[in-house]
Amino acid sequence: MFVHEEEAMRLSQPPMNNSGFKKENTSRISSDSLSPVRLLNIVGVTVFLAEASIMLALSDIHIPHPYMEAAFDGIMLTIFLVPVFYLALYRPMRAVMAERMRSEEELQKAYAELELRVRARTQDLCSANERLTLEIENRMKNEEQLSFAASVFMNTIEGIAITDESGNIQRVNPGFTTITGYSAGEVLGRNPRILKSSHHPPEFYRAMWDTLLKDGQWKGEIWNRRKNGELYPEWLSITAIRNANGRTTNYVSVFHDITDIKSSEEKLAHQAYHDALTGLPNRQLFNDRLKKALAHTQRHDEHLGLLFLDLDNFKNINDTLGHKVGDIYLQRAAALLRDCSRDEDTVTRLGGDEFTIMMPSIRAVDDPVRLAVRILESFSNPVLIEGHELNIGASIGITIAPDDGVDAETLIKNADMAMYRAKETGKNNYQVFTREINEKVHRTIQMENDLRKAVERYEFIVLYQPKVRLSDGKLDSVEALVRWVRPEGEIVSPADFIPIAESTGLVLPIGEWVLRTACRQARKWHDEGYPIGVSVNLSPRQFAQDNLFGMIADALAESGLPPEALEFEITEGMLLKRQDHAIDLLRKLRSCGIKLSIDDFGTGYSSLAYLKQLPINSLKLDRIFVQGLPSNADDATITFAVVSMATSLGLATVAEGVETAEQLAFLDKVGCEYIQGYYFSRPVSSETLTGYLREGKRLVR
Ligand code: C2E
Ligand code: MG
Ligand code: MG
Repeated sequence: MFVHEEEAMRLSQPPMNNSGFKKENTSRISSDSLSPVRLLNIVGVTVFLAEASIMLALSDIHIPHPYMEAAFDGIMLTIFLVPVFYLALYRPMRAVMAERMRSEEELQKAYAELELRVRARTQDLCSANERLTLEIENRMKNEEQLSFAASVFMNTIEGIAITDESGNIQRVNPGFTTITGYSAGEVLGRNPRILKSSHHPPEFYRAMWDTLLKDGQWKGEIWNRRKNGELYPEWLSITAIRNANGRTTNYVSVFHDITDIKSSEEKLAHQAYHDALTGLPNRQLFNDRLKKALAHTQRHDEHLGLLFLDLDNFKNINDTLGHKVGDIYLQRAAALLRDCSRDEDTVTRLGGDEFTIMMPSIRAVDDPVRLAVRILESFSNPVLIEGHELNIGASIGITIAPDDGVDAETLIKNADMAMYRAKETGKNNYQVFTREINEKVHRTIQMENDLRKAVERYEFIVLYQPKVRLSDGKLDSVEALVRWVRPEGEIVSPADFIPIAESTGLVLPIGEWVLRTACRQARKWHDEGYPIGVSVNLSPRQFAQDNLFGMIADALAESGLPPEALEFEITEGMLLKRQDHAIDLLRKLRSCGIKLSIDDFGTGYSSLAYLKQLPINSLKLDRIFVQGLPSNADDATITFAVVSMATSLGLATVAEGVETAEQLAFLDKVGCEYIQGYYFSRPVSSETLTGYLREGKRLVR
C-alpha cells in the first residue's frame, strides 16, 4: 500500500463540496449550540413561571360577566394543563429524542469513518490499477518490439545467420537463403564453413577469429561460395552476443551480396584506366605498368623493350573521310597491335594516333625489332572501312631498358625520338633509338628555341631563284625562298627549319614576312621597268590559317603589286584537308588574278580528276624526276606524262632542279614550258637578281 501521507491527511478532512468549500458536519452536536431539548426545558420553565405569575395576578381580578368568567376559567385550565402536559408527555418524549439524537450522532461518526476507509481503499485500488495498466503497456511494447524484430529478421534483404557459441547455425532468415541458395533446413545445426571459398588463405580466417574473440566483432569483405558453387563477394559483419556474465552465447552474422557493387566498381576502374574507343590501357595504366616492369627488370637483371608508334596517315583519313571512319581505323589498328604482340606485352593508346607497346622480360634485344617488323607487315594489308580500302601506315621508335635508360620518362622520350626519326626518314618504318638520334632530336629542340628568337629578331632574308621560259630563254619570274641567317653568320636552309616552323606555328609570322618582303621587292622591280612575277611558297599551316585571304590582300595593297604578278606555290597534300574550303579559297585567289601552281608535283596523291577541279595555272615537276633525266627511263616517262597531261589540261609546266644541259634538252624536247634550277641560277639576293634583269640574263643552251 502506497497511500501517500498527504493523501491520508486529505482523506481525514471533511469532504469538499463541488465548489471546493468544506461541507458542514451537520451530524455533530456542539455543546455550545442551543439544542432543541434545552430549548424545550427553557420554554417549559418559562411558561410555568409565567402561569404562576398570571394566576397570582388574576386571583385579585374581578370578573363582571358570566361569559367572561367562563373564558377566564378556560384560560386558567389551559394554563394549568400546560405544565401537566409538560410533565406527563414532554419529558419522556425529550428523553426519547435525546437517545435518538445520540444514536444518529454515532451513526454519522461510523459513516464518516467508513467513508474514510472506502476512500483509502479506493485509492489503493486506483494505484494498483495504474500499475497494472503500466505493466500491460510495457508488455505490449515488448511484444511489439519482439514482433518488429522478428519482422526485420524475416524481411531484411541482408542474410542473417545466428549460431550458438560453438558456431553451429541455429537460425537463418530468408535473405540468407536468397544469397547462399541454402534453405534453413539445409544449414541448421551446421557450421557456416559450408559457405567457405578457397579464395582466402587460412591466415585470413585466423585473423578474423582473433579479432572476433578479442573485440567481439569483425567486419569486412569476404568471398564465399553459393550452394550452386558460384563464388561471390559479400560484406560480412559478425557480432558476439554475451550474457550477463560476459560469456559468449551466440554469434550473429549479417551479410549482403556485393557482386553488383564490385562489378560496377570494376567497370569504373576499367574506364579510368582504359581507352573508351579501343579498349586498350590508357596512358595512366601504361605509366603504372611501365614503372612496375622497370623495377622488376632491375631486380632480375632483365631487358625491357618499348615501342612508340604513330600512325602515318591518320590525320588525312580523319579529315577527308570523317571521324566515324577515323574511329574505326584506330580500332582496327589497335586490334592488329594486340594480335601482333605477346600476352605479357602492354599495348596502350596514349591518345590520338599514338600507341606504345611495352615488352617486359625480353630474351634478346632484337625482340622489339621483330615485333616492329611484324606490325608493319600486318599493317601492309589494306583494311576495308565503310567501302574505303585503307592502308594503315605507322612510324615506330624502339628503345631498350636499361641500355637506353632506366626510368619511364627517359625511355618514353627516347622511343618518341626514335619514332620522330622514323617519320623523318620516310615514314612507315621503324628506328631503334641511338645516341645519334638523341643528338639530332636535341638539335631540333634547340633549333625550335632559337627559331622563336629568330622570329622576334627578324633573322631572315629572302633569296630569289629565276624561272626561265624555254621558248625564248628569258627570265619570266622568280621564286622567293627564305633563309635564316643566324647571329654567328650561319645560313640555315628552309628545308631544315621550315618543318620545325610548321610544327610550332612559327611559319605563320615567317611566311607573312616573306610574302610582304617579296611583294615589295617585286613592286620595286616593276618600278624599275622589269614587270616580272614572283612566286611565294605557302605551307599547309599557312594555307589553313583563317585570315589568309585578308593578309594577302593587305600585302598586295601595301606594296602596290598587281595581283597578276603574284603566284602561290602549294603542295598537293594541302588540298586533301578541308577540300571544299581549300577549293573555295583557291577560287577566291584566282578570281583576284593571283596565279597558283602545284609545287613538287608527282610526290603527292593528286588524281587527274581532282586536278581538273582546281583553278590552277601550272604544275612544278618535282626535282626527283628531273634528277634522273634523261637516262632514267622511269623519270623520262613520268616527265613526259606530266608535261603531256598538264598541256592537255591547259596548264603550264615548270621543271624544278634543272642542273644540266641534258636535262634541259630533254625538257625542251617533251614540251616543258619553264625551267628552274642551278643550270640557270641558284637562289640569289635581290641585288644579284636586279643585276640579272639589268644585264638581260638569258638561258644559254
Ligand atoms: P621548293 O619550293 O620546292 O623550292 C625549290 C627548292 O629547290 C629550293 O630549295 C631551291 O633552292 C632548290 N633548288 C632549286 N634549283 C635546284 C637545283 O638545281 N638543284 C638542287 N639540288 N636544288 C635546287 P630551298 O630554297 O632550300 O627550299 C626548300 C624548300 O623550302 C622549298 O622547296 C619550299 O618548299 C620551302 N621554302 C622555301 N622558302 C619558303 C617560304 O618562304 N615559305 C615556305 N612555306 N616554304 C619555303
Ligand atoms: Mg616552291
Ligand atoms: Mg618544289
